[in-house]
Amino acid sequence: MDRAVEGMDRSFGAWTMPDEYREMQRLVRRFVQGDVRAVEDTLPHDATSCPADKLAPLQEKAKAMGLWCVRTPEAYGGAGLNLLGQAVWAEEAKQVRMGLYNAAMGAFGIDPPNVIWEGNRRQIEAYGLPGVEKGTKCFVAISEPSGGADPGRSIQLRAEKVGGKYVLNGSKMWITGAAKADWGIVYARTGGRGRSGISSFIVDRDTPGLSIREIPVIRAYSPFELHFDNVEVPAENLLGAEGQGFQLAEKWLVDNRIQYSAGTLGVAQA
Ligand SMILES: Cc1cc2nc3c(=O)[nH]c(=O)nc-3n(C[C@H](O)[C@H](O)[C@H](O)COP(=O)(O)OP(=O)(O)OC[C@H]3O[C@@H](n4cnc5c(N)ncnc54)[C@H](O)[C@@H]3O)c2cc1C
Repeated sequence: MDRAVEGMDRSFGAWTMPDEYREMQRLVRRFVQGDVRAVEDTLPHDATSCPADKLAPLQEKAKAMGLWCVRTPEAYGGAGLNLLGQAVWAEEAKQVRMGLYNAAMGAFGIDPPNVIWEGNRRQIEAYGLPGVEKGTKCFVAISEPSGGADPGRSIQLRAEKVGGKYVLNGSKMWITGAAKADWGIVYARTGGRGRSGISSFIVDRDTPGLSIREIPVIRAYSPFELHFDNVEVPAENLLGAEGQGFQLAEKWLVDNRIQYSAGTLGVAQA
């Protein structure tokens, strides 16, 4: 965005980016093109993450800039950028080799899925806050072999309530980051057909019965297939109310896609 209008008369009537966003854009660009790239250049060409000892100083610097977990509300330790701020950030942060799937190699931390903040206090404290603190990845599992574009119809993974837990059976496809995540959000069917039959669950990656298989793709960073064989999830890990899952999935997708789209523009520019 910035490069296109630099040096131009900015009074031509079209929307122009407010100065505070322009300033942040310059700050992020300097950090990413200077500090982050210098470290990435020391890594193998198709590395998908940065070793912890090299990442830590970059993360400290991002924190000092007030740009830690930019998509997480300030109340939970993030920078709390709005959607425009996130788009400006993403366009710059993704202009490194692994940027499309690992913005700035994780130098700004990795935001937990925004819907965790819709959870209750226990869920936020047990899952959301440690995620912000550690800057580690979580997975979000919506898509299935039956399709991903229309989750209201295609979600078939079943969650049956048995006493104080839900028992999950079925599969998820194309799930990003599942193998390295501590936990993820899984959308499953607790009710009948359609959107109102879907609920969402916080699932620990090492829960017995959950198996994870890499799906090789042409780039270095593969997504995963998840298979649920009688996976027992405590009822307290139901996120939101039963039947509210589709709304939560929508909230995650809409928010996520804005910065994701801006990020692809950044990748194209790079
Ligand atoms: C690298 C990668 C990473 C991914 N990571 C994740 C992840 O982390 N979590 C996750 O949940 N998913 C993930 N996905 C899956 C992704 O969200 C889906 O690929 C996407 O939603 C499209 O679903 P699909 O591939 O099953 O296509 P389909 O749903 O089969 O759609 C195929 C085509 O049909 C159209 N279509 C489908 N249904 C309808 C309808 N009812 N009416 C009209 N048109 C329709 C679609 O628009 C599309 O053009 C990932 C995919 C990839 C490739």
